[in-house]
Amino acid sequence: MPAPTLLTVTTSEQLTPHLVRVHFTGDLAHFAESTDTDRYVKLVFRKPGVVYPEPFDMQVVRSMPAEDQPVVRTYTVRTLDVPAGTLSIDFVVHGTEGVAGPWAATASAGDELLANGPGGGYAPRADVDWHLLVADEAGLPAVAAALDALAPDAVARVLVEVAAEDDVIELGEGENVEVTWVLRGAPSHDVPDERAGTAAPLVEAVRDLEWLPGTVQAFVHGEAAAVMHGLRPLLLKERGIPRADVSISGYWRRGRTEEGFREWKSELARREA
Ligand SMILES: Cc1cc2nc3c(=O)[nH]c(=O)nc-3n(C[C@H](O)[C@H](O)[C@H](O)COP(=O)(O)OP(=O)(O)OC[C@H]3O[C@@H](n4cnc5c(N)ncnc54)[C@H](O)[C@@H]3O)c2cc1C
Repeated sequence: MPAPTLLTVTTSEQLTPHLVRVHFTGDLAHFAESTDTDRYVKLVFRKPGVVYPEPFDMQVVRSMPAEDQPVVRTYTVRTLDVPAGTLSIDFVVHGTEGVAGPWAATASAGDELLANGPGGGYAPRADVDWHLLVADEAGLPAVAAALDALAPDAVARVLVEVAAEDDVIELGEGENVEVTWVLRGAPSHDVPDERAGTAAPLVEAVRDLEWLPGTVQAFVHGEAAAVMHGLRPLLLKERGIPRADVSISGYWRRGRTEEGFREWKSELARREA
C-alpha cells in the first residue's frame, strides 16, 4: 500500500449551516491518475498521545493495539488542482457526534491529516440520453463534481435532499440540467429513523420525477437505508435501469459510526446473498 498523502489545511469556509469546505495543500501527483468524478479519500485521524511509525505505514499501524488504531473516514474530493497541489473537501457538519464532522467544524490553517487513496468508480458517460443524480448532503459533493464534468449540452435531472432553504448551494447548471432541492425540514442527524428507508423525502421526490425517454445513467448516494431500501428497488426494479448503469450505495447510516455502518453493509450483503 502506498504511503498516505499528508494534507495540510490552508483555509476553510462555511458554505451553509451544515456544510463546511476545507481547503488542503499537499503532494497530489498521484491523484492525476484518477478521472472518476466521485473520487474519494480515506482520511486518517491519528489518536492524540499515540506514537505512530514515521513515515506512517498503514500496514505497520494495523498491527498496533486496537485502542491505538487511528479513525478512518471516507470523503469525496470536491475540487482538485494537481499542479497547484490543492484539493478541497465538503464536510457535512452533523452535530457533536463523530470524528470527521466535528474536526471539520473547527479545522484551521496548519491542521494536518493523512489521506489514503483516491478511490472511485463513477464518471458521467457521454453515450447515454440523460443523467440522474440523487443525493443528500453527504453525496452532494460528488453530485456537484459530476455536474462540473458534464458536457454543456448534457441532459440531467438532479435531486438533492437538504435540511432547509439555507442549505441550498449553487451547482453547475447547464441549460438541460434541472435541479430539485428536497427540503426535509431538519438537519440529517436530527431526523428519527422512522423517516429513513422508503419514508425518506428523497425517495418520494424520485418517485414523483417525470421520467425522461431514452437511456439513463444514475448516480445515487446518501443515507444508507434511504438509498438501499428506498431508492435501489425503485430505480432497479420499478424503473428497470440496468445495474451496470447505476452507481448506488449508502454513504452513511443513521445512528451508526462509519465502523458500525461497515458492519451494516456486511449484514445486508449476507442477507441478500
Ligand atoms: C465514498 C464516500 C464518499 C463520501 N463523501 C462524503 C463527503 O464528501 N462529505 C461528507 O460529509 N460525507 C461524505 N461521506 C460520508 C461520511 O463518510 C460519513 O458521514 C462519516 O460517517 C462521517 O464520519 P464522522 O466521524 O463525522 O461521524 P461517525 O463517527 O461516522 O458517526 C457519528 C454519528 O454521526 C452520524 N452521522 C454520520 N454522518 C452523518 C451525516 N452525513 N449526517 C447526519 N449524521 C451523520 C452517524 O450516524 C453517527 O450517529 C462519504 C462516504 C462515502 C462512503
